[in-house]
Parts: sequence; C-alpha cells; structure tokens
Amino acid sequence: MYCRSCRYGLEGLDAGRCPECGVPFDPTDPSTYAEWRYKPQALIGIAAAIGIFLLSIIVFFTAMQPSYGHSQDAAFFTLAGIGVVLGGLAAILAGWLRWWLGQIPLLLVGVFCTWAGLFLASSHGYSVWQGGPNPPDEAFADTAPIGFLLAGWIPAGVLVGLVFGVALLFFRRQRRSRRPRPAGQ
Ligand SMILES: [Zn+2]
Repeated sequence: MYCRSCRYGLEGLDAGRCPECGVPFDPTDPSTYAEWRYKPQALIGIAAAIGIFLLSIIVFFTAMQPSYGHSQDAAFFTLAGIGVVLGGLAAILAGWLRWWLGQIPLLLVGVFCTWAGLFLASSHGYSVWQGGPNPPDEAFADTAPIGFLLAGWIPAGVLVGLVFGVALLFFRRQRRSRRPRPAGQ
C-alpha cells in the first residue's frame, strides 16, 4: 500500500493523511492508495523504449534517402543529429521515471539510437560524397564508419549518461518543490 501521490509506504498506518505529502488515504478503500509502487513506470518505460526504437528505424531510413547535395557534412550532421535527439529524448524520459525497470530499457535504446546515428552518419556521409561528381580519392578512404561502429557506443554512452543525470536531478528537484508541506509546519 503506497501513497497515490508520492508513493510513500503506508503499510500498517491507520486511515488519515500521508505523513510525507498530506494526501488523504483509507486502507478500506483501494481507490485512495496505490498497490504497486512503480509498476506503471516500468510499463511506461518499456513501451516508450519500444516506441523510440521503432521511431528511430523509420526516421533513420527516411534520412538515408536524400543525397544531401553530395555534401558529406550535411549528411553527417543530419543523421548524427537525429541520433542525438532520439538518444536525448530517451535519456530525459528515463530521468523522469523513478524505477530502474523503466529506466534501463530507455537508456539502452538511447545509447543505441545515438550510436546508430553516429555510424549511419559516417557511413552515409561517405556514400553521398562518393556519389557526387568527380569524387576525390579521400572519399573512398572510408574507414571512419568502422571506427564509429566499434567505438561509437562510448560517446553515445557518455552523452546519454550525462543527459540522464541532469534530467534525474532536475525532476527530483521539481518534485521536491511541488510537494506541499504537511499541515502545522
Ligand atoms: Zn504521500
């Protein structure tokens, strides 16, 4: 039995107000308390992770179609940017959730999207460069995509971890300031 507002454990308490946040509850009325502390959060986290993963496939596929005027930079920054936005979105959602079972799938998908973005950006950047008129020899020295494939998870993990940490602190502070003070204080 948990407070339906702040998830404080209410087991063994008599009917009244939550000692933590003051929201009323009654052990004889299941609509006034929550039975699971964070179960919905795990479901939200897993569903959102699957949603972002499917979205990333569609968006990356769409972004691989144009030739970007044979500009390697334009292709690189577009695809890498998509990966960073999707990874950041997943990390912010993970920071908003309060249970690891919801957070971990989002963090994994976030790292995957950022990593895939870097690899596809590098790979597609070279292929649009090679597809241009009179591509120079350097356009075929395309070892960078392999580097991103092997090591891209490191910057992706650092970025997602940082965004997650900042989001976690931000939402925790917001919840604390929103919580009303118990009566008499
Ligand atoms: Zn409460």
